[in-house]
Amino acid sequence: MIPFRDRVQLLVDRIFYKDRKDYRSILQDFSRALTDILDLPHLLEMLVERVQDVLHAERVVIILLDPHTDFYISHKAGGISEQVTHMVRFSKDDQVVSWLAEKGPLYLHGEEGDSYPVGFSVEEKARLEALGVVLCIPLYTREQLIGWLALGSKWSGDLYSRDDLAFLSTLADQTSLVIQSARFHEEAQQKVRELSLLFRASTAISSSLEIGEVWSNLAKRVGQIVDATSVSVYECNIEEKTSSVLADYAGPRASDRERVSRAGEKFSLQESSITMGALRARWPLSISLNDPTTGEGDRARLLRLGGRTVLIIPLMVRGRVIGFVDLCESRYDRRFTEGEIRLCQTVANQAIIAVENAGLFQEERKRALQLGTVREVSQKIVSILNLDELFAQVVELIQQRFDYYHVQVFLNDPDAQQAVFRAGTGRAGEVMVEEGYQLKIGEEGIIGWVASSGEFLLANDVSKEPRFLPYRVLPDTQAELAIPLSRGGQILGVLDVQSERVNAFEESDLFVLQSLADQVAIAIENASLYTMTDQALARRLEELAIMQEIDRQLNATLDFEKVMDFTLDCAIRMTGADGGLIGMVTQEQDGMQLLAIRGYPWEHGPSVGQLWPIDRGIVGRVVRTGQPALASDVTQDPDCVSDISEICSQLTVPIQREERVMGVISVESPQSAAFDEDDLAFMTRLADHATIAIENARLYSDLKRANEEKSEFVSMVAHDLKTPMTSIKGYTELLFKGTAGEISEMQQKFLGVIGSNVDRMNTLVSDLLDISRIESGRLRLDVQSIPIKTIVDEVVQTLQERIKAKGLTLTIEVSEDLPPVRADEDRLIQVLINLMSNAYRYTLAGGEISLKATVQSNSLPPGEAEPVPPDEQPLQYLCLSVSDTGIGISPKDQTRVFSKFFRGDDPVVRESAGTGLGLSIAKSIVELHNGQMWFQSEPGQGSIFSFTVPLATDS
Ligand code: ADP
Repeated sequence: MIPFRDRVQLLVDRIFYKDRKDYRSILQDFSRALTDILDLPHLLEMLVERVQDVLHAERVVIILLDPHTDFYISHKAGGISEQVTHMVRFSKDDQVVSWLAEKGPLYLHGEEGDSYPVGFSVEEKARLEALGVVLCIPLYTREQLIGWLALGSKWSGDLYSRDDLAFLSTLADQTSLVIQSARFHEEAQQKVRELSLLFRASTAISSSLEIGEVWSNLAKRVGQIVDATSVSVYECNIEEKTSSVLADYAGPRASDRERVSRAGEKFSLQESSITMGALRARWPLSISLNDPTTGEGDRARLLRLGGRTVLIIPLMVRGRVIGFVDLCESRYDRRFTEGEIRLCQTVANQAIIAVENAGLFQEERKRALQLGTVREVSQKIVSILNLDELFAQVVELIQQRFDYYHVQVFLNDPDAQQAVFRAGTGRAGEVMVEEGYQLKIGEEGIIGWVASSGEFLLANDVSKEPRFLPYRVLPDTQAELAIPLSRGGQILGVLDVQSERVNAFEESDLFVLQSLADQVAIAIENASLYTMTDQALARRLEELAIMQEIDRQLNATLDFEKVMDFTLDCAIRMTGADGGLIGMVTQEQDGMQLLAIRGYPWEHGPSVGQLWPIDRGIVGRVVRTGQPALASDVTQDPDCVSDISEICSQLTVPIQREERVMGVISVESPQSAAFDEDDLAFMTRLADHATIAIENARLYSDLKRANEEKSEFVSMVAHDLKTPMTSIKGYTELLFKGTAGEISEMQQKFLGVIGSNVDRMNTLVSDLLDISRIESGRLRLDVQSIPIKTIVDEVVQTLQERIKAKGLTLTIEVSEDLPPVRADEDRLIQVLINLMSNAYRYTLAGGEISLKATVQSNSLPPGEAEPVPPDEQPLQYLCLSVSDTGIGISPKDQTRVFSKFFRGDDPVVRESAGTGLGLSIAKSIVELHNGQMWFQSEPGQGSIFSFTVPLATDS
């Protein structure tokens, strides 16, 4: 007796399929259905359904090779729970894989008997049995086994017939390539998505120069990239096991608890062993609430924060962990994929670079303000010879620039042993003058102490400073910094600043005030110039002029070498020396690098760049002790090691910042006793001035290096993307041409989509490469004389179809007889295409675009040119202008149009694909040609972008 259910099934079969063996029409049917499906999940679902319907198998499982893990795993199943199929996976070493790859279908309960072929391990059989499949039909592409179709027994209990097997094999062949290309498509889509997310993230992150903004952007961007419900960025101290939230982000599906910002809150790292683990290992780690390996502490923390899965990504700066990103998923238990983790790490690395840059930027800004004040004060000072007027100005300037609570100057009266108040800011200053305020040197207050010791005193919390003397007109003083005014070992007085904040003073304030104090001390000395002899006066005046010139030069250039050369030349001129050198102690403190050298004609003399020892010799001693050396005959100095017999006198002074010796300036002469105390005093002042410039130049080179690292990173990433993209493109074209076998219409469609996405990625990558070439100065031009018409024709040919298709009118006003330009042809085409395609993209249908070329006598925008002197032959330029009647640019955006990654907010801009790099690249290319680029624009009316290129001179 046939069971009732099977009889019904047979009846249904007869009605719906008429003849079960009419496999040909089923296959045709199936192949037609395939053309309607674009994505893998639907494709697999249909396959499972069809096979179940046609063959009445108890279950059908599709197993596919997972390219990320290299395991064969179930992708779709019918008639069996996904929980079971997800537990089972096959490796490439499994017997079933090699059987299917080499021998074809595997039928486990076929006519030959119900045993497995030899070689199958017990464990492997157990896995197949867990799936409950008896028939495996391989899915091949040309190169490899991409998976198989696994079927359970038929409901009827019948065996699979030869026809069934032939049908399934044909079906498998028909589907394999489609599966493969759907996955290909999916992967390419995924790559494009990743890349554009990454791109958007990097745009946002690298465009901010405020550190807080970088962290908020980081939280938001990684949250969006991996679709986490919330993200927090922490800074941490591993030794102290503390952390605090720098920024957080709650996604659109965050729970109420996650929406409460915790920025600024502090947490002990002891609470969470997963975080501690990730930070110690310096590796991302993830846990889920229901994972049995999750510890109690972490579970409690997850429950409290309302998360189900978290991922911790450490943030590292030069190998040191400074914080971490905590990504939280509150909707379900989730596994973050390798790809997601990799993306988050890339964005985090970018954020760190941005933070470092921002830090440098802020420091640079502060330093610039400080240096500016030093310069301002020194310029004022040299011209004032009346001391009271001088002090009044100095205290005012310092108070205003740095916003201190109170600033004052005291001068020592050595006879009375008193430090006498001379000038102070505000009402307090007036009161103190009226009262004739003074303090006993060496006895009263911080001022008294500094006035006697000649050392500075920094009390960042005056309540902890026993020498602090409260004064009734200054009730709010919390921190005080007093600096001696001294000249040539003599203490002249004290410069004193006060703040209403505890811990108000940093090292850099000390540095600046020290420089100011030096200037004031010089001014005090200058004020007593009247008493000097004429000769000495002349010399002091010359010195002052030189110092001023040095300050000017030092402030004007960030070029280390120029600063050094100039300083050394001054030293030699003013001391009447024959030669000299400047050296800087290396960072490793293992020697001194020689940076400038004059007047050593001898073979065995020193040379620039050489490493000079500091463990011996006179110069070495100056570096080690910080004490200047004045030798009238070097051979008499016990430390002398020089074998240059031409040198007799030598004068060496340290270049110091605070207590640290950074380098030396040394001058020599073949005469004995060539230098005196005056020379020593001059050289000491010179070295003081050079310090600021050196610090400045260092800071600048740091900034430059950080930028170079960023360019290198971009160029590396772009290069890495180029090769896989070329191969995707190549293979797509091969498939398209039918090299790998006939392809259907639907397959052509897929390949078309892949192709155009790869093209987009290509544009992105070549823009990135261009930018990094420009930034690192590696962009080379192949300049030739080119008729402009050729360029215009080429650009028009490329774009006119699209312009017409969009319903735009194109007008070209470029005369045939314009002289040729001097330019790199490909690059000039790139610039023009960029401007024209912007005009095309940002102009609505019905609008107009026009291109004009005219000759002008300079490279500048109209109105900015200076008249050319009559005897000078003006250089001729060609000016090209692209105008459109498009959306225009808002005044706010106009300042940023040429910035890297900038894209406008207008919906028309947002809808068009673009990188925001085009104009920045175009402008740099034009400038490399010695031309200029500018634009005019009116929102809603249109824009005109223009640029100039030089004409070929031989025309
Ligand atoms: P992209 O066009 O890829 O965004 P670009 O650097 O070429 O990058 O342009 C930067 C931005 O300048 C654009 O996003 C757009 O906002 C604005 N822009 C450029 N050209 C025009 C134009 N012709 N009309 C209006 N806006 C423009």
